[in-house]
Amino acid sequence: MTRRISRRRLLQACGMIVPAALAGPFLLGARPADAQQKATKQQVQYQETPKKGQDCEKCLQFTPPDGCKLVGGKINPKGWCLLFALKPK
Ligand code: SF4
Repeated sequence: MTRRISRRRLLQACGMIVPAALAGPFLLGARPADAQQKATKQQVQYQETPKKGQDCEKCLQFTPPDGCKLVGGKINPKGWCLLFALKPK
């Protein structure tokens, strides 16, 4: 049996979602890089291969050629992680 976990839940567990009162100063003037740190590959169970037809190339968070808005480090377009979100067509 597969257990699904929402992205919000995962980010909360990783400490990446903070209350608005704490995030306020960052939202008012800090650069994006200061306001949000990326998750590590380990935190999101990143793997270098697709999973069940899902891969980074099809993910909303993928930034070609080898980046990700949410996960740090070099990302393989054929990789996958728990934060996968299908790009709208
Ligand atoms: S599946 Fe999406 S969120 Fe996860 S590493 Fe790939 S591009 Fe980033």
